[in-house]
Amino acid sequence: MNVVLRVRGNPWWIRQIETVSPAVELSPEEKFRRLVNAALATPYFTRREHAESLLSAQSLKDLPVLPARTLLDHKSRFLNPKADKALGMLRLPFESSACVVVGKKLRLPKGCSNLDESALYRLHHSATRMLAATPGALRRICALVEARALALPNLCEAVIVLQGLEEGLLYAGERDMLWRCLGVPVFEQWLGLDGELLAWECGVHQGLHFRSNRAELEEIDGELVLTSWFGLRTPILRVATGFSARVDHRVCACGDDQPVLLHLSMKQSSESVLRHAALA
Ligand SMILES: [Zn+2]
Repeated sequence: MNVVLRVRGNPWWIRQIETVSPAVELSPEEKFRRLVNAALATPYFTRREHAESLLSAQSLKDLPVLPARTLLDHKSRFLNPKADKALGMLRLPFESSACVVVGKKLRLPKGCSNLDESALYRLHHSATRMLAATPGALRRICALVEARALALPNLCEAVIVLQGLEEGLLYAGERDMLWRCLGVPVFEQWLGLDGELLAWECGVHQGLHFRSNRAELEEIDGELVLTSWFGLRTPILRVATGFSARVDHRVCACGDDQPVLLHLSMKQSSESVLRHAALA
């Protein structure tokens, strides 16, 4: 198999991300108020007791932590009808002329196309050079490849794993499974509910980079609690994700000196809940 190894440094990633992120320049207070206002427009936070907790909060730490289960079970109640309906933009580790996206609706850069999960057979002997897909879609693709029902002779660039609260995460050992089955470098990403990029893996492959101007991560009882500053359509305000990770503060070999999430995984007790949510 012909594997193309192309690595972009982290400054390239940051340019990609920040040129479309007007909120980067907002102060922490402005970002907080903007997100609170977005939440107040949703049916869930319109209820008096929920609205009061938002309105009385001076900072993020004053807000109650919301279990992911509550949000995922009642997602329509967390939709802000006033927000821009544009989906998040897919960010690739490098440009591709033939990237196929499966299992997640996103705005696509040039050279990318969407494929419905029910039409995986269309990948067979296609020109696909890069795949971007949810963990569930990748499991199905690998099962087909291993059963020799699907051949991807032109896949040579990368596999992007599109993970999140709804999509779930890869399980232990599944990165190796992807490499064995597809034979191309794996780049994991963590996306918010609006498709906004929260954390991304660089070409050094040592963990997921994140920026506090995009997302706030707290660790409470070993669980990551997420606030996404860009998710204004489906505001994520202190949501207990059911995920755990270790934060590495060493400078990454790509040159980025911001923290990296290592071993992002589902906490044992939350696996079944989130897997169920991903299937629902
Ligand atoms: Zn890096």
